[in-house]
Amino acid sequence: MLAAVCLGLFATGVGTRPAGTGWALTYDVVLYNAVYVLAAVGCFAAARRPGDRVTWLAMGLGLVLSTSGNLVYSLVIAELPDPPYPSVADALYLASFVPTCVGLVAFVRARVPRLRPAMVLDGLVGALGATAIAATILLGPETHALGEDAAAAAVGLFYTVADMVLLALFVAAGAVLGLRREITLVLLMAGVASTLVGDLVYSRLATLGIYVEGGALDLTWLLHATLIAQAAHRSRPARGDGHAGGHSGVRTGWRHIAIPLGLNVACIAVLLIQSMAVAPIAAWCAAGCISATLVRSLVSFRELRHFHTVRAEARTDELTSLPNRRALLGHADTLVAAATTRRPVALLLLDLDGFKEVNDGLGHAAGDELLRQIGPRLATELGPADLLARLGGDEFAVLVPDADVDRALELARRLHDRLRQPFTVEGQRLHVGASIGVATAPVPAAGVQDLLRCADVAMYAAKGAQEGVRVYLPDPRGGSGDRLRTMEDLRTALETDQLLVHLQPQVRLADGAVAGVEALVRWQHPSRGLLTPAEILPAAEQAGLMQPLTDVVLRLALEATTRWWPDRAVPVSVNLSAASVTDLELPATVIRRLRDHGLPPEALTLELVEDTLMADPDRGRAVLGELRRLGVRTSIDDYGTGYSSLAYLRHLPADELKLDRSLTADVGRDDRATAIVGHTVALVHALGLTLVAEGVEDEETAVVLAALGCDVAQGWAVARPMPVEQFLGWLADRSSSSGTAVIPAPRVPGQRVAP
Ligand code: C2E
Ligand code: MG
Ligand code: MG
Repeated sequence: MLAAVCLGLFATGVGTRPAGTGWALTYDVVLYNAVYVLAAVGCFAAARRPGDRVTWLAMGLGLVLSTSGNLVYSLVIAELPDPPYPSVADALYLASFVPTCVGLVAFVRARVPRLRPAMVLDGLVGALGATAIAATILLGPETHALGEDAAAAAVGLFYTVADMVLLALFVAAGAVLGLRREITLVLLMAGVASTLVGDLVYSRLATLGIYVEGGALDLTWLLHATLIAQAAHRSRPARGDGHAGGHSGVRTGWRHIAIPLGLNVACIAVLLIQSMAVAPIAAWCAAGCISATLVRSLVSFRELRHFHTVRAEARTDELTSLPNRRALLGHADTLVAAATTRRPVALLLLDLDGFKEVNDGLGHAAGDELLRQIGPRLATELGPADLLARLGGDEFAVLVPDADVDRALELARRLHDRLRQPFTVEGQRLHVGASIGVATAPVPAAGVQDLLRCADVAMYAAKGAQEGVRVYLPDPRGGSGDRLRTMEDLRTALETDQLLVHLQPQVRLADGAVAGVEALVRWQHPSRGLLTPAEILPAAEQAGLMQPLTDVVLRLALEATTRWWPDRAVPVSVNLSAASVTDLELPATVIRRLRDHGLPPEALTLELVEDTLMADPDRGRAVLGELRRLGVRTSIDDYGTGYSSLAYLRHLPADELKLDRSLTADVGRDDRATAIVGHTVALVHALGLTLVAEGVEDEETAVVLAALGCDVAQGWAVARPMPVEQFLGWLADRSSSSGTAVIPAPRVPGQRVAP
């Protein structure tokens, strides 16, 4: 600030005093050098702050050297009757260039921690181009006319070369950093530019012999000192930012190419006028500058190509070479933005069924192989505008432009059929199948995230209901169905008693006695009402909450059982998840729980879906074996779905087999179904197990199943799952009725089934 004031005072002097009237002590010595001294002090002060220390120390030193030169000249040399040239003052002036250059280089280095080839080339283009131009101006024919004195000529050349080096550095710095709005840089560059302009004009005037000391030209050097001081004052620690030197890739923005481009135009001009008068060095530098630019273009090209490769890789799934989630989202952004109700866009979300079992059972290599086959398998069904992507794991998505719900649904069904056909993986035939959720935008999904969410909800609904394909329908109760939110809410639910069990009875087909009761989880959600396992289990599984959930259900089921066990020894069945089945602590936990509730082991049956055992069959078998040894019953649930295998039955430590509804629903109507059930009954009995028929919806089916030899029935024909209180009432009613009917005494007349 003070330096600026002194500069202002000096400038008034320049304006009011006729130039060349000799020097006045206050004016030419005190005022003039005050600017330098204050600027140097400013630089040294800035050097005490972190960041750009070297720059400000060097700049300060440069100013000190210049001040010394000024003082020596004004106080000693100019006093002499015949002032010599060159003198000690010139030595000091020339010396000041060194720290200035060092400071400039340090400034650039602090901003470019990693100098990449493109930057080096930019610097080279800058340096050569600037030299070519400077040489054209400074080493023109007039220069040779400069005096006969060899020493004077040499020092004159030194000044010129020093100026050229500074100019080259100055432009190179600009080319490396690019044009940027960093105030310190702007001020520093302006300061260097100012001294260069002063030097260039001075050399021109000196050559022509018309330079007058103390004139307006002196302001350029003072301005240099003042601007450097300002730069020092405003300096902020350097950030080695991506803009210039980080990892952000390609330097092709106009800010980066402005300087090299301008220099090339200038160099071509230099070469064009070369034949006339230019010094050879100018021509060489100009040619060098253009060559460096060519190399720079090649580097840019390579960088660009690399950038595109990286970009493509970032959008491709490594395993399947299909577009990945990022690519899908990018494309969906464009399509959803352009979609209208008349031309909607559809998203199909596919999740393979039983992929985990393939992975666990056959190994990850087989899993990968299977995933790689999905793309080619589905490609035949897709149009050129449809985009198939792998979102991760066994989840795929198809983005279909210009597709309404019907078209999307039809495509989804075709894809579903294709996936149901067996795959050959490592020489084995595999059946996987998939669940597909379909959603469209702009209705009901307004944006891309919404579209993904809706398709996700539909997909999970399809999976839960084992329906294959489902279209997203907005929840009429206003719930969003958001699985993520469900996962969050579920954590709270587990801690705050929002979970409950509904009980569904099982009756012996032979005499209608109540053989057991299955506890089925429900969730009394505060805003969404009563939720079923289809909504709860996927969220629990994904949130890793299956074990705590099993724990809560086990507690609720045993609590309920204590209410009837003293009077009626009806065991309760609880469903186990894969995580529980392989938990070696499970038997001990279960026994402790039973003891806490004052119940014997036979009051509990643990159900597991056979597939859950595939994760770790040996361990699962050990856990089940131990449970049975302790007296807890075990049951194989949903037999007939998934990977049911007869060989499995041989080794599975179970007391009961539950035949899935898909096998029992059609008995009596379908001969093949009847044959399967009949033979399964024989097999199960031969193995010493009890057979429970699931999903018995009507009396006819119950009658046929009884005739086929099924032991127990569970289903709507007996009773729907019901709250605990209601079940207690049902059980009491049941004990007071005859007890010989296959299907219990009906609440609605006419539902009784003849024994
Ligand atoms: P599951 O163990 O096979 O349970 C029987 C399911 O079939 C129940 O569905 C029940 O409501 C339904 N159902 C019963 N009778 C009939 C019928 O006559 N017709 C038809 N169409 N369906 C019938 P829910 O309660 O929705 O449970 C579905 C599945 O969720 C269960 O199938 C079980 O695998 C699982 N699940 C339920 N509660 C739990 C639990 O606490 N833990 C775990 N890990 N899984 C559970
Ligand atoms: Mg079950
Ligand atoms: Mg079942």
